[in-house]
Amino acid sequence: MFELTLLGTAGSAPTKARALPSVYLSYEGDSFLFDCGEGTQMQLLKFGLSPHKIRAIFLSHIHGDHVIGIAGLVRTLALNNRTEELKIFIPKGYEKAITSLIKFDKAMINYPIKILPIKKGTMFKGKDYEISSFKLNHTVPTYGFVFKEKDKLKFDMKKCKKLGIKGEMFKHLELKNHIIINNKKILLKTVSFKKPGRKVVYSSDTRPCAETLKNSKSANILIHESSYTSRYSELAKSRKHSTVSEAATIAKKANVKQLILVHFSARYKDDYELIKEAKAVFANTVIGKDGYKVTL
Ligand SMILES: [Zn+2]
Ligand SMILES: [Zn+2]
Repeated sequence: MFELTLLGTAGSAPTKARALPSVYLSYEGDSFLFDCGEGTQMQLLKFGLSPHKIRAIFLSHIHGDHVIGIAGLVRTLALNNRTEELKIFIPKGYEKAITSLIKFDKAMINYPIKILPIKKGTMFKGKDYEISSFKLNHTVPTYGFVFKEKDKLKFDMKKCKKLGIKGEMFKHLELKNHIIINNKKILLKTVSFKKPGRKVVYSSDTRPCAETLKNSKSANILIHESSYTSRYSELAKSRKHSTVSEAATIAKKANVKQLILVHFSARYKDDYELIKEAKAVFANTVIGKDGYKVTL
């Protein structure tokens, strides 16, 4: 199972309809949080998602709207007798600030919590996937994240059948990169192809940037902040955020399959203006809503 749920889609301050930023990603039994705004644990409950499966939390930057939810979540996990280690990633230099959110009241937290600095490149490896980071352009050090499934080797069954490849021969081919049938050498690459793994990219608070474009190339999903519409482009520039059309342009250039916009300013009471601006640039855009779920 590969599933994505938006837990909070507001930027800076919550509204009645939108909680603060957090994305829950679930892949074959492992779960991850990208950002953990205030109220994230309530959103998990509301949308029927288990906090116990969370193996790591990736905090894009230290701004309160993206991290304050950590304080409550780690305590609830302790009350529920978590034993498994929890990894929390934060840009280098802010480890102490996160530690203080966890320890300020000397709460009894009996499971191990590891607070780690974000490194550019691969940070977390699973059996069939890896999570990496890339640098964004915001008012404080900020990172985006890529969840990438491994590419898979697939056999061209038509070709294999024609050449008489069957049973154990497939294993042999994979191990040795070739096989000999009737004195004829058959190379693995001539009877197989690489099926690219699926990719989800989370780009938190940022000006539109080349790193996002590069890392989002052909992604299945790009989740990108878009605090404002173009009417407020000067505000977006001064506060180092993106407008809807700037985010949509990144999605278009990166040729992603779907763009999900999040982190909206509280001034947008309905989606009309947002969707109109987004679709003018990139048709396959969704205006993120709390609880919005995608199965990949
Ligand atoms: Zn923010
Ligand atoms: Zn921010």
